[in-house]
Amino acid sequence: MMIVMKESATDEEIAAVAEKIERAGARAHPSRGARVTVIGAIGDVEQDASVESIGLEGLPGVDRVVPILKPYKLASAQFRHGERTVLEIDGRKVGGEHFALIAGPCTVESREQTMHTARVVRDAGATLLRGGAYKPRTSPYAFQGLGVEGLRLLAEAKAETGLPIVTELMDIRDLDAVLEVADVIQIGARNMQNYPLLTEIGRSGRPALLKRGLSAPLDELLMAAEYILKEGNQGVMLCERGIRTFENDYRRTTLDLMAVPILKELSHLPVIVDPSHAAGRRDLVPALSLAAAAAGADGIIVEVHPNPDEALCDGPQALPTDTFAEYAATVERAAALAGTALSAV
Ligand code: PEP
Ligand code: MN
Repeated sequence: MMIVMKESATDEEIAAVAEKIERAGARAHPSRGARVTVIGAIGDVEQDASVESIGLEGLPGVDRVVPILKPYKLASAQFRHGERTVLEIDGRKVGGEHFALIAGPCTVESREQTMHTARVVRDAGATLLRGGAYKPRTSPYAFQGLGVEGLRLLAEAKAETGLPIVTELMDIRDLDAVLEVADVIQIGARNMQNYPLLTEIGRSGRPALLKRGLSAPLDELLMAAEYILKEGNQGVMLCERGIRTFENDYRRTTLDLMAVPILKELSHLPVIVDPSHAAGRRDLVPALSLAAAAAGADGIIVEVHPNPDEALCDGPQALPTDTFAEYAATVERAAALAGTALSAV
């Protein structure tokens, strides 16, 4: 259920409606738009029925009460009346007219590699620094990341460059350590439907970058986002990172670029594209990045390494640091085609 307040509604009237919703056993999710405030009344089916019966329609400041038609409520475009969500991450905006260039190594390997990459991407105008300390690897024998030491190096890179950090959380047991460093918590493709993890990240209140599962339909991605939003965390970015299809000979996965306009139609949340994991080949990354930016993505997350041939993880898809500035400039031009501008430090 969605309670649309009048433009003239006061803070007290909004609070009174929210209180009444909570008393009926559902949770109130107020969302302030440019013109009107909407309050989502979200609960299970029984709670929805009791919210329906408490006569919100007659309360002062209420314009109308309407059902939210999609199974994902807070993630739906309807919930924000077609307004886009713009996230603010340590001063950088993501969404709307603000394009995020998120760049950095797949994996934090060493101080030298992390600091060098961070400086290069910062100088080229990146918005956020990515880097994994905990890595989901197909083989249990492959390098699993530096863990806490990797987080420490990311903190150092942030202290020097000022770039906010995006890093992956795989295991709830590492939540507190990751919260010390992450400005944005990445949820990997393999964890898109790890519901307890999504719930805890939702409760943490920290913005999240939610990657689409390798075989996940878009509705399932949006339902996964709903798990985070439901906890009162409004900071969710959706990420298309390539899906499994029959074409495996020439690339790692298939980048579903149609997901960009479709997700933007279905949801108000920013949509980020990851060309690196989609392609698995660095020569395809520039073309996919330009296409994503021109298609209206709200940002790109891309892997960069000082010496990709020696990378411990995902080297074949990493852009070398020495070509990154040129790459960033072309992405910026493509984003401008879609009416967005790089949101940098
Ligand atoms: C990554 O970003 O390094 C990564 C492992 O991504 P994904 O979960 O999309 O495979
Ligand atoms: Mn990677």
